[in-house]
Amino acid sequence: MSRKLIAGNWKMNGGLAANEALVRSMLDGLSGPACGIALCAPAPYLSQLQGLLQGSPIDWGAQDVSAHEQGAFTGEVSAAMLRDFGCRYAIVGHSERRQYHGETDETVAAKAQRALAAGITPIVCVGETLQQREAGETEMVVKRQLAAVIHTVGHCISEIVVAYEPVWAIGTGKTATPEQAQQVHAVLRAQLAAATTNPKRVHILYGGSMNAANAASLLAQADIDGGLIGGASLKAPDFLQIIAACA
Ligand code: PEP
Repeated sequence: MSRKLIAGNWKMNGGLAANEALVRSMLDGLSGPACGIALCAPAPYLSQLQGLLQGSPIDWGAQDVSAHEQGAFTGEVSAAMLRDFGCRYAIVGHSERRQYHGETDETVAAKAQRALAAGITPIVCVGETLQQREAGETEMVVKRQLAAVIHTVGHCISEIVVAYEPVWAIGTGKTATPEQAQQVHAVLRAQLAAATTNPKRVHILYGGSMNAANAASLLAQADIDGGLIGGASLKAPDFLQIIAACA
């Protein structure tokens, strides 16, 4: 496996001045990071990130991308538009989009395919709700979510990033234990191994209340190749400590 990847998801937070201060403190605190780093901002701020991060070790990405190529889809942002600015990543299928915007496994797969076709790496989120975990359905749910993407993108599956984000752990302060997370990551790795000859090439990130205190033990697991970080990516010292935990 290559270097770990730490990706921040700012969600619908930020503003021009706050973003600049946050990014500058992150850049000031970085010294030869041992991992890949990315920040995913709301769409209006992507060109700001492009400017601030140029020539730095931090890549940037979008939080969503349209499932359509172009045309009459008011409010949507296409993969080609993102690529015009040099966008490297696009989160697809975040649980908040599945839950509040009705995104299905098929929509998420179409978005992943659009991103790949434009040369953008989709960060495909999968994860179970608390109810599904308690019903013993975790494995079935994450496999179904990933299977839709494998089915749609075929051999390009080795080009994606997967983020395992148990819904009950997102923004709740409840983290999966390293063992719980590793168990699901191993399931996802096995599923990728059946679809590509290079399953280790795919980063499988853990997301769900990862923070400065719990990052090292999660990142030490065999199949945890990095993190997708929500709340802690809005605080430079916390995000920098998570990055340092990759060393
Ligand atoms: C997320 O939104 O992807 C996430 C993991 O959020 P948090 O770190 O705040 O739980």
